[in-house]
Parts: sequence; C-alpha cells; structure tokens
Amino acid sequence: MDKIAPVRYNVQLNFHKNDGAIVQTINSYLATTLKALRNQKGWSLDKAAQETGVSKAMIGQIERGESSPTIATLWKIASGFNISLSTFLEPTPQSQGAVFRKPDELRQQPATDGMLVASLFPFEDRFGFEMFELTLLPHYERLSEPHETGVTEHVIVLSGTMEVLVDGQWQTLKQGEAVRFAADKPHGYRNLNDQAVVFHDLIHYLPRLHSPTH
Ligand code: MN
Repeated sequence: MDKIAPVRYNVQLNFHKNDGAIVQTINSYLATTLKALRNQKGWSLDKAAQETGVSKAMIGQIERGESSPTIATLWKIASGFNISLSTFLEPTPQSQGAVFRKPDELRQQPATDGMLVASLFPFEDRFGFEMFELTLLPHYERLSEPHETGVTEHVIVLSGTMEVLVDGQWQTLKQGEAVRFAADKPHGYRNLNDQAVVFHDLIHYLPRLHSPTH
C-alpha cells in the first residue's frame, strides 16, 4: 500500500506543473485527428453533432484547436464515431517490439475534468483493445454512455477505493479488486472519498467495428 501512495501525490504535481504544455499538445493533435476522421466519413458538422450528441459549435471549436474538451466530451465523440478514445489522444504506436510506457509522463487532464487519463496502450487493430490508467479525483463521478455493441471493460483498482455502476447498481471496488462488465450498456465510475483513486481500464472492442482509419 505504501508503494502506491506516491502515485496519488505525483498525479496532482504533474498536472499543475505541466498544465499549459499538456493542454496545448492534446488540443492540436485532437484538432487534426477529429477533422481528418470527419472528412473521412464525409460527415458535415451537423451530422457529426447528431451522431455524437456534442454541439456543432463545440465540434467546430475542437477542430480549430480552440477548445479543451473534457474527457466526457471526448468519450462522446469517440462513441459517436465508433472509435476508441485513445485514437484522439495520440498516434498508434508503430513499434513491433516491446513498448514501455510511463504513466507519469502520459497522464493528462483536459479542461476541468475530475478525471485524469494516461493512455498506456492506445488502441491497435491487431490487439482490439486500449488500456488506460485512469485517476478519479476526490468526489468525481462519471456516468458513461454505452460504447458500441460488444465492448467489454476490465477495471482493476491500483490505489484507493472506488465504485462502479454496473447493471444499474453501484458496487464498491477496493485496491487490488477487479471487475469485467459489458460496456455497451450505461455504466459509471465514482470516487466518494477525499483521496484520488487510480485504476486500470482495459477496453476491448469486437473486431472491425472500431477501426480508426480503414
Ligand atoms: Mn466506458
């Protein structure tokens, strides 16, 4: 338990230290990616707004790099486009060999969200999953819209105690505990405590429904 405690401290520290630079990087990569994907689908701003439930004005602002969307908004966009969230955060790793990742360097907190995201293993077609380290700041609650059909989430708590909403019930998960659930139904995560909760979330997609570019 003591080994994990410093993670909570670093989470806050890194965010405050790097805030400006991180937001800048996310915004410009996101802007380019969203515009490219929308063009690829041949969607107007109106159509993209319909499909994602995010306003046309907001989508336009994101594409111009003028807005720092919350993770909640990003997740709505990803779901509407039937694309993994990590696709919007950084390019797919090109390496065929071992991939080492440091969450301290990846952790991001777009806008004023109470959730920090480190995309440990961004989505890749050949594997069919993306894996995040997610941090819920104290008293943060997120209700997630259903992902596309067949998506499964695997949540493993690294530090703290959290609750997950599965089949309409909030269930407590303590450090080291895990749950797998069908994420093509409404679900959620919350932190009722005064300390941040850190967990891994491995999101598995069925083949061919999610492919970002082909
Ligand atoms: Mn989800």
